[in-house]
Amino acid sequence: MSIKVAKSAGFCFGVSRAVNIVNDLVDKGKKVYTLGPIIHNRQMVDKLAQRGVRIADIPGDAEQDSTLVIRSHGVAKSVYDEIKKLNIEYMDATCPFVLKIHRIVAEHSALGEIIIIAGDKNHPEVQGIIGHCTSEYYTYMTDGELEEILANIPDKNNKTLCVVAQTTFDITKWKKSLKMLQKVCTNAKIFDTICSATSDRQSEAAALAAESDLMLVIGGRHSSNTNKLYNICREVCPDTYLIESVKEMPLTAVKQASRIGITAGASTPASIIKEVLVTMTEEIKNTEEMNTEPSEFETLLEESFKNYNTDGRVHGVVVGVTPTEVRVDVGRKQTGIIPLSELSSDPNAKAEELVKEGDELDLIIMKTNDQEGTILLSKKRFDAQKGWDVIVKAEEDNEIVTGVVTEVVKGGVIAVSNGVRVFIPASQATATRGEDLNKLLKQEVSFRIIEVTRQRRRAVGSIRSVLSDERKKQAEAFWADAEVGKKYTGTVKSLTSYGAFVDIGGIDGMIHISELSWSRIKHPSEVVQPGDTVEVYIKSLDPEKGKISLGYKKDEDNPWEILKNKYPVGTECEVEIVGLTQFGAFARIIPGIDGLIHVSQISNERVEKPEDVLSVGQKVNVKITAVDLEKKRISLSMKALLAGETEQAEEAAAEETAEADSEE
Ligand code: SF4
Repeated sequence: MSIKVAKSAGFCFGVSRAVNIVNDLVDKGKKVYTLGPIIHNRQMVDKLAQRGVRIADIPGDAEQDSTLVIRSHGVAKSVYDEIKKLNIEYMDATCPFVLKIHRIVAEHSALGEIIIIAGDKNHPEVQGIIGHCTSEYYTYMTDGELEEILANIPDKNNKTLCVVAQTTFDITKWKKSLKMLQKVCTNAKIFDTICSATSDRQSEAAALAAESDLMLVIGGRHSSNTNKLYNICREVCPDTYLIESVKEMPLTAVKQASRIGITAGASTPASIIKEVLVTMTEEIKNTEEMNTEPSEFETLLEESFKNYNTDGRVHGVVVGVTPTEVRVDVGRKQTGIIPLSELSSDPNAKAEELVKEGDELDLIIMKTNDQEGTILLSKKRFDAQKGWDVIVKAEEDNEIVTGVVTEVVKGGVIAVSNGVRVFIPASQATATRGEDLNKLLKQEVSFRIIEVTRQRRRAVGSIRSVLSDERKKQAEAFWADAEVGKKYTGTVKSLTSYGAFVDIGGIDGMIHISELSWSRIKHPSEVVQPGDTVEVYIKSLDPEKGKISLGYKKDEDNPWEILKNKYPVGTECEVEIVGLTQFGAFARIIPGIDGLIHVSQISNERVEKPEDVLSVGQKVNVKITAVDLEKKRISLSMKALLAGETEQAEEAAAEETAEADSEE
């Protein structure tokens, strides 16, 4: 058994461009209406509807704050006029090949020529073309209809005819009708406006059908080009089926066929073709041994879309920039077009920010269409080819490259460097694990290339490698002139129960918890928080172990210094009771300094136990009666504030000190 997929199957340039325009608008948060279904494919239309895209039958159906997209078929001039009159924002996704027909008929009808259109007068594309004719016009589908038209034009040999075709018109029928027309009329200007995507697809489908005993044509039943493909294939392969999705696959016939050919209309998404292929493979495998491995199907499918000529390079000058494409003069008769998706690897890029009229660009030719006068170009691919050389060399030489982070993806970020998308895993994106990757978005970053697989277009980078080098350099510089006592401004990086780690410029030191405050604290977070900027100095260094102890608390904040200067013996002040014992009460004078009110110094009257008259938290007035800075002891007296008690209190304080010393 063999299964062959036509290379030309699936989205053509014009359809792909229209769908991209709609998706881009939705991505930008716009409210989007399409003037009629954007393409003749129900599944794709449903998918867009799920994204909020609505269909307007007439321009007036679109809401004022929305963007109306004109689909690739194009519309009549009167529709543009109506949109402008209604003042609705719009995006023109008319295929450039169709726009060219509009231009031809408009120019030639302005000269008074008779316009003849080969095509279905009920098809929206033909209705759009008719809407640009300002002179007499006719449409035909068959030779008979053309014959009748020509017979009814009076004095036809003295009139000029302008003949164009619907882009999807059957190429064989077109050529045949032209022969007949040229015999009857000597003065017809003929413009072959059949899109090469259509003619290529039709010729390929016919050739494939001829060598197949079963042919599947995938596409919408309302799609004119899909129906034409079906008719073309059925003429040479009677067992031809038109299916809209995998659900309609004729399984029995498929299992009996030995040579299956598959093609698809211009509006058929690749996902539907792939789904048909995968289902077909599984079904056939269930009934008989397949010769073809599933992986071959994927290769086949991928190859079927590689219909671009990627060898040609051109140099061009920008002649026009719109939000969706850039027009380029490449010194040929064709108009060069770079779709936005082919301008840059950055999905957020805006055409007008990247290029302007007059800019010179190096480009890759993706597709040419001499008949239509267009040439599809890619700057992104040229940059990527050139960029790959730079990226591969950077990996070989371990060089640092720069790029801009364009996306945060699952497992890391994407940075675009030299037009190449480089994946940077989360573990390699920041100096420490767990940092928020969103802060890198739109930032220029430096990184090393740590892995390249050119065939698979895969490059992996590491920002961490560059950051780690920078830190090493900073560390070397630090150790070269570090000395005890040197002051630094640092940033608190993290806290533990025993201290705070501080980055002092590429190297970390630690402030022990006891160094954070003159008072007793339970956790470093009572004084500092990660991210705080702190002034520190080196208390000690161990270059061998790379350890740095930092000092933080300042002498001027030392409470014993404050006490010495502001609270000499004899000072009367308010204190707070912080503890009670048998022999007295401890009271806080200032944070970090407590003194003792001996039980005998609480009152004039005898106090059995301090808690009989005092309680923790109570504020009382005292006199400082003794200070021993060496032993860090302070005696306080409430009684001394009572008249005539001072001397006695000072004597008592001396006794207390003696008692406490003997207890030690
Ligand atoms: S078939 Fe040709 S003319 Fe029609 S939309 Fe596609 S590229 Fe444009």
